[in-house]
This record gives sequence, structure tokens and C-alpha cells, in this order.
Amino acid sequence: MAKVSFRYGLSLFFMSVIPGAWRRTAAGAGLLAADGTVAPTIFAEMSAAAARTGAINLGQGFPDEDGPVEVLEAARAAIAGGANQYPPGRGVPDLLAAISEHQRRFYGLDIDPDREVIVTAGATEALTAALLALIDGPDDEVVVFEPYYDSYAAAVALAGAKLVTVPLRAPGFQPDLDRFAASVSDRTRIILVNDPHNPTGAVFGAEVLTEVVRLAQRHDAVIITDEVYEHLAFHAPHMPIATLPGAAERTLTISSAGKTFSTTGWKIGWIHGPAALITAVLTVKQYLTYVNGSPFQPAIAAGLRLPDAYFADAAAALSRKHEILGAGLRAAGFTVLPPQGGYFTVADATDIGGADSAAFCRALPEAAGVVAIPLSAFVSEAHRDAYTGLVRFAACKRVEVLEEAAARLAAFGR
Ligand code: PMP
Ligand code: GLN
Repeated sequence: MAKVSFRYGLSLFFMSVIPGAWRRTAAGAGLLAADGTVAPTIFAEMSAAAARTGAINLGQGFPDEDGPVEVLEAARAAIAGGANQYPPGRGVPDLLAAISEHQRRFYGLDIDPDREVIVTAGATEALTAALLALIDGPDDEVVVFEPYYDSYAAAVALAGAKLVTVPLRAPGFQPDLDRFAASVSDRTRIILVNDPHNPTGAVFGAEVLTEVVRLAQRHDAVIITDEVYEHLAFHAPHMPIATLPGAAERTLTISSAGKTFSTTGWKIGWIHGPAALITAVLTVKQYLTYVNGSPFQPAIAAGLRLPDAYFADAAAALSRKHEILGAGLRAAGFTVLPPQGGYFTVADATDIGGADSAAFCRALPEAAGVVAIPLSAFVSEAHRDAYTGLVRFAACKRVEVLEEAAARLAAFGR
């Protein structure tokens, strides 16, 4: 016994000797240093920099205002009403019904609430559970567009598969379709698409989405879509891949209440798709968290049933915030790449001394009083050079906060 605790006590100082899947997870996310130490995620690092310096945090994407009162009140009422024990494993029936109604109302999708959907601890758990459930070994490949949300590479590495990336290049951040086709093969188990896209703000065109389906059919791959910004598309209604011909039978669609209702801390997400795929995901999910958030689940059901105006207004308000942020960034000397959806504006800092955007972002809190994230944090190590100069700013903040950030950046850029 003493020997065991000695061994592990010592290992705390030499993390590299602790064996286990954590190492490949950290390496997959680009967080494992050569000496075996593990760095915090870029979001944790940058939020800590904001707290330390008092800088405005346009790094981690979370709103600084509460969401709709109906949703907040419904959670309070659920707690008062005793919804404080484990909910059913698939989720509270009222939320399962509300997700099904929402998918029909907005997209015409027909989802059986009893068999084809489960509630998860945010989109993150849905993604990780789906990847762990469907990946079967080191020969399996997962194709993603790059840059990608950080949890994708971490979860694919944890699951022990190979990540295959297809580059998205500025200014439009649409994939080259020939390159995409060449990246998908019979080894491809999953094509994982985030639309609208974090961090680039891209919304993929119909020809890209159609190609996702064609390639998945051709190589018998599962499509996993991450649509957490589904209600934050600015120029055209969001089009889930599952609505395309031939897609629904092989697609797992993931979303989350966090962005739609400004409740990122509640961690209520969901995943839907064919019953057999959902059963596979549930099998893993039930041993990750089992369940979560029982009073929040009915509250999100109320949110999903809000009138159309709520959803349209949320997108319009965020679009306006991007314009304010974009104007400030331009005044400061950045070249702005306006987003088509989602929380983030990407800007090129090369002209104001940010050719190395990772170093630029590390210095920015002290130098300008603003926190932002280099796009290279969303890119595998080998491809970082292609994104140097690009910086991601979160626009999901109050207008006065964005205006203050813009003023600080303009003063800095001059
Ligand atoms: N996917 C994307 C693209 C995201 O941006 C985020 C969070 N910002 C997530 C997944 C995670 O969502 P959740 O907080 O619901 O786990
Ligand atoms: N998804 C949020 C972002 O992209 C961060 C969430 C997190 O910290 N993991 O900023």
C-alpha cells in the first residue's frame, strides 16, 4: 500500500510516467509538452489571463447576459417542484418531446422522442460519447474540417482513432471539395462536421453538405454534425445535414441549449439519429455521466417551445454585435473576416504586429486589456503555420463591453 501511494505521489511530479489514455488525449489536443507536463486548454489559459489582468474576455465563448426569463423561471420552478433527483437515462420525457417538436418545427425532421434522441451533458458529452461508441480501433479514421473545436481531436485521440483533417482557408473557410474527397476512404468511420463553424464563423454551402453525404454513403461512414450554433446563422436559415436526401439514416445530429438560450453553464445538450446509432451512443453515455441537470431539462423544453421571434431576435442581436466588434477591429487595423454564423469573428492581425498570433494573443491582455484566442489553438500542430496571424474574438458580450473592447483595441493598434 505504502509502495503504491509512494509511486503515485512521486508520479505527480513526473506526469509522463503515469500511464493511461489521458496522455494520448492531451497529445491529441496539442496540450502535452515534451517533458510530459500537460497544459490547460486555451480557454482555461485565456480566461485565467483575463481574471489576472482585468482584461475584457473575448476569448472563451460565453455570453455575459442571462438568457430568456421564461427559461430561467422554469428552472427555478422545477427545483421548487422537486425535480432534483436522477432523471430517466435518456432524458426527461418533456424535453425529449420538445426536441422532437423543435426538429419538426424548424427543419421538418421526424424524430421519435422515445427511441431516436437522448439528452446529454452538453454537446461535449454527446460528441465524446458518439466518438467512443462508434470508433473501433486504431485503423478507424475520423475526418474533420480544420480548424476544429478543440474537443474533437481530444476525443478522437481518447477513442484511439486517427484524425484526418481537411483545411479551411481564409477568407471564406470553405473546404476544397477535391481535397475533401481525397481525405475520405473506406477507413473513414466518421465524418464530423460543425456548422455553423467554430472558430471560423463559416456556414457551409449546400454543395459542401451534399458532398459530406455523398462521401459518407460511398464509404459507408457515419456523419456526426455539431450544430450548437444552429440558431445563430446570420444570412440564411440553418440547414441540418440530416435533412438532405440519404443523410438521416446515417447521421447523428448534436446540439446544445448553451448557445441558443445563453445557458452555457447548464450543460444541457442532445443527440438524435437512427435508433440503432442512438442505442450505441446511449450505451457509452450511461457510463460517462449517466444523467445530468434534472431541473434544467424541463426549463430547456420551455425554451425550445418559445415563439419563432425569440430565435430570430437572438440571431439578429448577435449579428449586430459582430458588426460592432468588426468595426472596432477594423479601426484598430485588423483585417476582419465577417462570420456567417456563431459566436466568433476571426480577424487577421498581421498588419498590426500580430503575424505570430499566438504570441500576439499572449501579450494582448497586458498590452491592450483584451483577451482573444489565436486560431492556431484550433489546428493540429503540423498545420499551425497556415493560420498564423489569425485571431478569434467572441462577440457574445454586451454591446457596451464590445464597444469598450473596440476602443481599447483601436488605442492599441494606433
Ligand atoms: N461544439 C462547439 C462547436 C462549441 O463551440 C461548443 C462550445 N462552445 C461545444 C461544442 C460544446 O458545447 P457544450 O457546452 O454544450 O458542451
Ligand atoms: N466552446 C467555447 C469556445 O469555443 C469554450 C468552451 C470551453 O471552454 N471548453 O470558446
